[in-house]
Amino acid sequence: MALTHSLGFPRIGRRRELKFALESFWAGDSGEAELQAVARGVRRYNWQAQQQLDLVPAGDFSLYDQVLDTAVRLGVLPQRFEADEPRLTRYFRQARGRAPGGEDVPALEMTKWFNTNYHYLVPELEADQGFCLDIHDQLAQIREAKALGHAVKPVLLGPVTFLYLAKQRQGQDGRLALLPALLAAYRQWLAALAAEGIDWVQLDEPILVQDLGADWQGAVEAAYGELSREPVRILLASYFGTLGNNLALATGLPVAGLHIDAVAGKAQLAVVDGAWPKDKVLSVGIVNGRNVWRTDLNAAIELLAPLAQRRGDNLWVAPSCSLLHSPVDLDQEDQLDDELKSWLAFAVQKVEEVRLIAKALNEGKGAIQEALAASDAAALARRQSGRIHNPAVAERLASITGEHSRRQRPFAERIKIQRQALRLPAYPTTTIGSFPQTPAIRGLRRDWRAGRLAEADYRTAIAREIEAVVREQEALGLDLLVHGEAERNDMVEYFGELLAGFAFTRFGWVQSYGSRCVKPPIIFGDVSRAQPLTVEWTAFAQGLTDKPVKGMLTGPVTILGWSFPRDDLDLPSIARQIALALRDEVADLEAAGIKVIQIDEPAFRELLPLKLADQGPYFDWAVEAFRLSAAGVADGTQIHTHMCYSEFNAIIDAIAALDADVITIETSRSANELLEVFRHYNYPNEIGPGVYDIHSPRIPSVDEMAALIERAQAYIPAERLWVNPDCGLKTRRWEEVRPALSNMVAAAKQLREGGCAR
Ligand code: GLN
Ligand code: ZN
Repeated sequence: MALTHSLGFPRIGRRRELKFALESFWAGDSGEAELQAVARGVRRYNWQAQQQLDLVPAGDFSLYDQVLDTAVRLGVLPQRFEADEPRLTRYFRQARGRAPGGEDVPALEMTKWFNTNYHYLVPELEADQGFCLDIHDQLAQIREAKALGHAVKPVLLGPVTFLYLAKQRQGQDGRLALLPALLAAYRQWLAALAAEGIDWVQLDEPILVQDLGADWQGAVEAAYGELSREPVRILLASYFGTLGNNLALATGLPVAGLHIDAVAGKAQLAVVDGAWPKDKVLSVGIVNGRNVWRTDLNAAIELLAPLAQRRGDNLWVAPSCSLLHSPVDLDQEDQLDDELKSWLAFAVQKVEEVRLIAKALNEGKGAIQEALAASDAAALARRQSGRIHNPAVAERLASITGEHSRRQRPFAERIKIQRQALRLPAYPTTTIGSFPQTPAIRGLRRDWRAGRLAEADYRTAIAREIEAVVREQEALGLDLLVHGEAERNDMVEYFGELLAGFAFTRFGWVQSYGSRCVKPPIIFGDVSRAQPLTVEWTAFAQGLTDKPVKGMLTGPVTILGWSFPRDDLDLPSIARQIALALRDEVADLEAAGIKVIQIDEPAFRELLPLKLADQGPYFDWAVEAFRLSAAGVADGTQIHTHMCYSEFNAIIDAIAALDADVITIETSRSANELLEVFRHYNYPNEIGPGVYDIHSPRIPSVDEMAALIERAQAYIPAERLWVNPDCGLKTRRWEEVRPALSNMVAAAKQLREGGCAR
């Protein structure tokens, strides 16, 4: 009999209860008891939602982040957090840099969890880091689940991934030397679980889907050789891809079970099945744990039937990865139409799919007849739906040639025409697009959406905001203006709502970090543009001033990356569809007299595949999509792009290949790293290294901003430098923005006096 389990469940709550409880606790409006009560409620709900499974996960819950929890349980505490204060205060201080009562200290660094949009806190290890196990909180969760009558399988972050994700002080990387001590702590951990009566323990080692050097592979081998000596059965979980060239390593480990991602790693399913002993458990993640589409039950059953035959009890059925990356419950969506809803499954529904697949494998398809018929009908309807397939889009896609993604002249010639047309001074100043989204602006959009504010009144109010922002910029003396994005809620949602092929949920939240959630739109069909998206407000702004106004678009890779993509079309094709819609928008902006158009790609690096071998092909299509959106313009029209980070080392060739006339980037927090890149790489086009860190309320001085540009001049010729903030200003207040931009303009003037002609 095939068994069922899950690797983890969303912990933010069906209605984001945990988010609100956390924020209320942080604000000092409620106490620890209330927070813990909400947390218990979420766990109880989660276990109930999974009770049909043979094993439910326990210990996967976290108040903030599972990597931080692991560090805390191992007794890893960077010195700056050592203070005599309550446990929970110290915990949140590490996560957020602040907690009720006490001084602020820099929080742990936060970074992306593999190729997802979840962010974890990076553990900091000393050169001689010791470990001291304290898992009472996890044991409490396990007992809680058992008391509720559940069969539990504790979930732990594996030791090698933990070590791999941790960091040490610069130039001191001796993480692998810590492995023996770490393994001793993990052995103690497993022994404690065994003493608790636990049989199976899930150890997550997602690094197994990445390229690993011999040293890290050796660490995996050593770790599981040791840990398998404890009296529990280990399910080693890999996910987010194939095992790649860690296949022999993983299948040679002396663990009792292996989980593989048969969605992202489908290509390797047969090989793993062949290599993994039949008398050991193979857990196959067949239900996509990180997208929103309903599983085609029939296809899943067909795929697994031969494995079930051969493996019997030793086949486990599961979601591909933790359901942490999926919204909670589709049943709440009362504003999605029935057809679209019938194509989707969130975490609760995915658990049910797992149960159904296993039931059919064990008892025959007849045992789930009704569910199977519904699944077949949904799959068929989706394949044939006129809402999904737009022949005009397919035709246009087919007619695309290389010409479409090439500007007419090379940059060196274009830039001369653009300079003639724009007549900007040296070190031109600009901003990244948004200006403060005041409570008044948010209120306007909210009232208008709720029908409390008439369309005409809303538009008058937005026009007034745009005019105010244009006047502010003129008064500040900025050179290239923007309209301020007052009409935009979110840089992807705004476009998705106006394009065909996108749907929006009400409660489809996914945790991004801590209490922060995102609600990605769902790309369900061919993307097309029925009407202009941004032309009216941009042209309106341009009509108010003699200075050039920059049009502002979100790029195709970012729109794709921050959405749930359809699973019936490859990512490059979806990106190309979005790019074509944007290309039309770019053309309309140009026709409306807009001379500069910025196409933001903050997610460009986020989609980077985990394995090196997949990165080249990714860059090819991502770069092509960007260029497709941009390259339709005349050479005199200037294309900008923007990215919010500066870890450019791995991607600088691709950045250059975008061939944007100007790129603005994050620099102020990491000037050194960035300049290091440009020391070795001769970036050909114009560039605006952000001189004002908009993530901080601090107002940078004239001199410090000028100094940053002066340093940049050592590597990038002065005539190709722009002066701008790091990112959009929407989260800042005018009281901060005004003096900061005023200093920024003064810094540019100071540089000009230093002498440089364009
Ligand atoms: N144009 C957007 C803004 O200014 C860019 C946001 C971003 O880079 N994330 O808000
Ligand atoms: Zn940005």
